[in-house]
Amino acid sequence: MYPPIARKRFGQHFLHDKQIIQRIVDMVAPQTGQHVVEIGPGQGALTVPILKQIGTLDVVEIDRDLIPPLKMRCAEKGHLIVHEADALEFDFAGLVPSGESLRVIGNLPYNISTPLIFHLLDYANIILDMHFMLQKEVVERLAAQPGTEAYGRLSIMMQYHCHVISLFNVSAAAFYPPPKVESSVVRLIPYKEISHFAHHYKHFALLVREAFSHRRKTLRNSLKGLVSDVEWKKIEIDSHLRPEQLSVEDYVTISNRLQPK
Ligand code: SAM
Repeated sequence: MYPPIARKRFGQHFLHDKQIIQRIVDMVAPQTGQHVVEIGPGQGALTVPILKQIGTLDVVEIDRDLIPPLKMRCAEKGHLIVHEADALEFDFAGLVPSGESLRVIGNLPYNISTPLIFHLLDYANIILDMHFMLQKEVVERLAAQPGTEAYGRLSIMMQYHCHVISLFNVSAAAFYPPPKVESSVVRLIPYKEISHFAHHYKHFALLVREAFSHRRKTLRNSLKGLVSDVEWKKIEIDSHLRPEQLSVEDYVTISNRLQPK
């Protein structure tokens, strides 16, 4: 059933545990009429049951050798729309007419999961929700709270846009070939309205990036190029704290003080 070689460069670890597959499908609970896109369908472990359930599905797959057998497997199951493309460069907005929203799912290739999530955040306004299988450590970082070791740039940028819900862990034995790491399934729900809105998103993102580029330094030191001593006086946040001690809201506050509307 499996190809002799799973391509390492495409992060291929195929799900074969039927209970886990069913659990993911149940968590996604796709409904007929919803627009769902799967990233990296591979051999169709999630594709087939979802297609059967809702009748039509878009998939984005980079490995052209996997596409003909996938199409054959799905032939009688529903309408599969295959996009042979790199998900990192894919225009997700092109899938839906304006006003319609998208549900995104995927057992993601772990080697590109972080840049892929950042790419998807560009489409947060058209995404209803996302369900991903990721390296457990990445899910811990996405969901991490201030003051913890896992808390960092990924936590802040994700939690700025989305409600993050860690669903369940999956052992390496559920995949072929088994990855060297444990995995987790996460649900990400973009906020309809962002409660602490950054007036200048690029500046906010730059501030977070700079703060965490020197995790051991105080904010005053790591943000030297972006926040002057005079400016710190106008901000009600202690500049001697370390970057992991600030909430998402704190970073938005700093950015908005420096770059007013
Ligand atoms: N969904 C299948 C499953 O659960 O068994 C396969 C999951 S496997 C971890 C990751 C899949 O993503 C593979 O099919 C791989 O070829 C595909 N992939 C890797 N990089 C990709 C990229 N940049 N764009 C789209 N698909 C990619």
